[in-house]
Amino acid sequence: QRTAWLNGEYLPLAEAKVPVLDRGFLFADGVYEVTAVLDGRLVDSAAHLARLERSAGAIGIPLPVDAAGIAAVERELIARDSITRGLIYLQLTRGGTDDRDFLPRAGMRPTLLMFTQARDFLANPAVEAGMSVISWPELRWTRRDIKSVALLGQVMAKQAAAAAGAQEAWLVEDGFVTEGASSNAMIVDEAGTLVTRSLSNALLHGCTRAAVLALAAQYGVPVAERAFTIAEALAAREAMITSASSFVLPVTRIDGQVIADGRPGPITRRLRELYIAAARA
Ligand code: PMP
Repeated sequence: QRTAWLNGEYLPLAEAKVPVLDRGFLFADGVYEVTAVLDGRLVDSAAHLARLERSAGAIGIPLPVDAAGIAAVERELIARDSITRGLIYLQLTRGGTDDRDFLPRAGMRPTLLMFTQARDFLANPAVEAGMSVISWPELRWTRRDIKSVALLGQVMAKQAAAAAGAQEAWLVEDGFVTEGASSNAMIVDEAGTLVTRSLSNALLHGCTRAAVLALAAQYGVPVAERAFTIAEALAAREAMITSASSFVLPVTRIDGQVIADGRPGPITRRLRELYIAAARA
């Protein structure tokens, strides 16, 4: 049985309910976070909590529980659900009212929900086989730095990827990749430089992205933060994605075309190992 924490209460996940007048349901007026759990411990927790504060602050939703309190609930959920490898999902909405109205009322009580998902991402077959991605038009709004629960653009991209037999979509705007539908996109160019798009409102500021860039710099991999095209990615030595739910995974095909020799590359493998080792340290 899985446990939810909803507005201060632990209860069975299947019994957790939010009113239909909650603005998260009516307007997608809310933000979320996904944090990995490895060996029963939170991975990169401080970065995820800082981004939650940033996302919530950007749309003016006050956090009903402070960062330390949220981390304590997350640890309790990990214990109650006996999670060794998996994820913590957290959603914060502006809360419920007595009628549907675009303009939020003053003094609303936010809705805060957390629950776990067991997932053995260390055993992901993509680690050895590599992932296929498709290129897909960037159809989302222009504040992708806010981790909004309005995810229609991502859902459409993921459906298109699945229909093409791929696992992820790389979103393309003005000829350049912004990010993956649920990950950040990176390549290793012909010179051996790790390239990923620089931070802006055009993409989510990935916690895993930041950690991987720091590890790359620390271990002597040159890093360049700039936009790249699908053509550059196809001509690259290596390609990869980063996210809390995948850590670092190799991308070996884009739109059905093989990258390099079609096998996961050495820098991708190394960065994945370093990230996992850092998470376990
Ligand atoms: N971009 C998007 C659109 C995402 O949904 C995610 C996953 N949360 C990421 C990037 C990766 O971010 P993180 O490394 O913080 O999980």
